[in-house]
Amino acid sequence: MLAFRGVDFLEIDSQFSEQEKLVRQMVREFVEREVIPHIEQWNREAKFPAHLVPQMAELGFLGANLSGYGCAGMSNVEYGLILQELERGDSALRSFVSVQGSLVMYPIHEFGSEEQKRKWLPALQQGQAIGCFGLTEPDFGSNPAGMRTRAVRDGSDYILNGEKAWITNGSIADLALVWARADGVIRGFLIEKGTPGFSAQDIRGKMSLRASVTSLLSLQDARLPASALLPGAQGLKAPLDCLTQARYGIGWGAIGAAMACYHEALEYSKNRKQFDDRPIAAHQLVQEKLADMITEITKAQLLALHVGRLKDQGRADFAHISMLKRNNVKIALDVARAARDILGASGVADEYPIFRHLCNLEAVFTYEGTHNIHTLILGERLTGIPAYK
Ligand SMILES: Cc1cc2nc3c(=O)[nH]c(=O)nc-3n(C[C@H](O)[C@H](O)[C@H](O)COP(=O)(O)OP(=O)(O)OC[C@H]3O[C@@H](n4cnc5c(N)ncnc54)[C@H](O)[C@@H]3O)c2cc1C
Repeated sequence: MLAFRGVDFLEIDSQFSEQEKLVRQMVREFVEREVIPHIEQWNREAKFPAHLVPQMAELGFLGANLSGYGCAGMSNVEYGLILQELERGDSALRSFVSVQGSLVMYPIHEFGSEEQKRKWLPALQQGQAIGCFGLTEPDFGSNPAGMRTRAVRDGSDYILNGEKAWITNGSIADLALVWARADGVIRGFLIEKGTPGFSAQDIRGKMSLRASVTSLLSLQDARLPASALLPGAQGLKAPLDCLTQARYGIGWGAIGAAMACYHEALEYSKNRKQFDDRPIAAHQLVQEKLADMITEITKAQLLALHVGRLKDQGRADFAHISMLKRNNVKIALDVARAARDILGASGVADEYPIFRHLCNLEAVFTYEGTHNIHTLILGERLTGIPAYK
C-alpha cells in the first residue's frame, strides 16, 4: 500500500491518458521504494545516490522525451510526470535527470554530429556515462553572454581556458558539455573526463540540494580535437535552447516538491493537538494556509499540463516555459514555507521532509534562470522592451 496517492483536488487526473498515469505510477513506486526511506540520510551526508543511476536508466528516465539511440521516446507530458514524481522524493534526483536528459543528451541529439550521437547517446541513456553542462562562470551567472571561457584554434585542435562554476554532476561526469567563445561565437565542446588540463572540484558546504554533486570546472590549456565541437550549436541561442528544455522539466518537478510538503502538512495538522485537545487543522488560520496551498498547487498542475500539451504539439515557446518555471517554483517555495510553519518546531527537523524541500527549492528558484530573470523574459515578451541592463 502506497502512503502517497497524489494530490488532485480538481480531478485533473481525468485529463491524463492511461499511459501517462502508468508512467507516473511507475516513478511514484520507484521513489517510494528507493528514495523516501533513505533520502534524509543522503541529505545529511551530502551523498549523491549514484547507485540509483542504473535503475533510473533501466526505467527509461534518462532522455525520456528523446527518440532514437535507445531513448524511450516518451511524450513531454510523460517526461514531466517523471520529473514531478522524482522531485517529490528530492530535487537532487530530479536535477540529475534534468541535466543528463535536457542539458547533455538533448544538445547532442539536437546539435551533435551523427558520430557524436552514436558514441554518446546510448551510453548516456543507459547511465554508463554521466554528463554535466557547464555554462555558468564565477562572474557570469544570469548573464552568460559575458562568459570568459575561450577556445582558440591550434591547427585542427582547440585549446580551452576558463572556469565554470556551480556545475551539477561536475566531478562525477564522464562527459562535460562546456560552452566557450571561439572566434567570438559561443560554441559547445564535449570534453571527456581525464582530458589533460581539465579538472573538476566539488563545491562544499551547500545547504541546498545536498544530495546532488555541484562542482567548479577548470580548463587550463585543455586541448580538444575538432571532433569535440558540437557542429550545430552556434551562438548563445544554443545553450538557451537547452535551458528551455530543462526549465520545462523543473516546472513539473516543483509540483512534486510542493505536493510532498502539502501532504505532510495536511496529515500533521489533523494529528497535532493544541488548545482544548483540538487538532490544529480545526483552526481557521491553519485551514486558510491549507486552502491557499491546494489552490496554488492545482493552478500549477493545470499550467504544467497545458504547457506540456502545447510542447507535445510543438507550440510551446521559451516564454511559455519561463512562465511555467517562474510560477511553479515560486508557489512550491511558498507552499514549503507555509507547510514548515504548520509543523511548528517539527518543521525544522529532518524527521520530516519539508525543510529539506524548502532548502532545495531555494536553489531551484535561482538556477536555470533566476525568478527575476524569468520576470524579465515575460516582461520583454509582453512589452517588446528588454529590461535586463
Ligand atoms: C545547486 C546549483 C546547481 C547549478 N547547476 C548548474 C549547472 O549544472 N550548470 C550551469 O551552467 N549552472 C548551474 N548553476 C548556476 C545557476 O544557473 C546560476 O546560479 C544562476 O544562473 C544565477 O547566477 P548567479 O548565481 O551568478 O547569480 P547572479 O546572476 O549574480 O544574480 C544574483 C541576483 O541578482 C539578480 N539579477 C541578476 N541580473 C539581474 C537583472 N538584470 N535584473 C534583476 N535582477 C537581476 C538575480 O535574479 C539574483 O537574484 C547551478 C546553481 C546552483 C545553486
